[in-house]
Amino acid sequence: MSALLQDPIDLENERISSPPQAKTDQLAAAVVLTPHGSASSPPGYSGIAEHSTPAHAFLEHSTSILFPVLFVPNVYFSFDRLSELELLWLAALAIPLALVLADFIGGLVHWAADTYFSEDTPVVGPALIKPFRQHHIFPRDICKHTLVSIVGNVCILALPILALCQYLLWVSQDGLLAFAILCTTLMTAATVATNVFHKWAHQEESSAGVRWLQRMRLVLEPRHHQVHHTEPFEMHYCITNGWLNPLLNKIGFFRKLEAILNFLGIETTNARNSCDSVRM
Ligand SMILES: [Zn+2]
Ligand SMILES: [Zn+2]
Repeated sequence: MSALLQDPIDLENERISSPPQAKTDQLAAAVVLTPHGSASSPPGYSGIAEHSTPAHAFLEHSTSILFPVLFVPNVYFSFDRLSELELLWLAALAIPLALVLADFIGGLVHWAADTYFSEDTPVVGPALIKPFRQHHIFPRDICKHTLVSIVGNVCILALPILALCQYLLWVSQDGLLAFAILCTTLMTAATVATNVFHKWAHQEESSAGVRWLQRMRLVLEPRHHQVHHTEPFEMHYCITNGWLNPLLNKIGFFRKLEAILNFLGIETTNARNSCDSVRM
């Protein structure tokens, strides 16, 4: 038993181990997962392919197909509107702004999934929280996941936003609105791509093009992301390109957010588990 409990730590040769949040849940999951697959799997892999429910898989596949169907016209018509109004120069601002926004929003969702809720939380538990928590135990499983399984969840959330943007483009001629729609549309694309960049950061081998993008810090750089998988597991939540991590660490952004939520009576999973064990 003690050997099994040791596995999540020993599996990773690169000091990747379980974070304090929901540690008990993760160790329990590891005990279940280990006998099925890790014996024949290289370090960092569980050996188990995760499957979502049929309804969730249908949503993932359909929204992944529909994403470009809405994305391309949104970009085309917002560019066109900016060009008509001689505001095309604004488009140059949209790309960096979209990348920063995607880094921030992705970081916020990642922090929330690591810090609050549990794998048993209705709806989001199995679909969102579980993949984040299991990633801390088996970081390289993501390398074996299909494209749809890593971008599908974000496509489900992005599609209504793209549809709303398209509607607004039809009903308004405003130049600033067209700029906001271009930024939002590009931001959804960067957010959808975030888990692809995350996957690249965990790959043992990458193409020369991917390594160049990582070196240029245009996408998440592996050593930068390694900090998130290293004790105390409480920083570098941003995983699009990680541009915001130094700033958010410096100002203690996530710790302050946790303090505010704690003041409002919303405890982290870790704090709640400690309280429950004291009560027991
Ligand atoms: Zn995490
Ligand atoms: Zn990771």
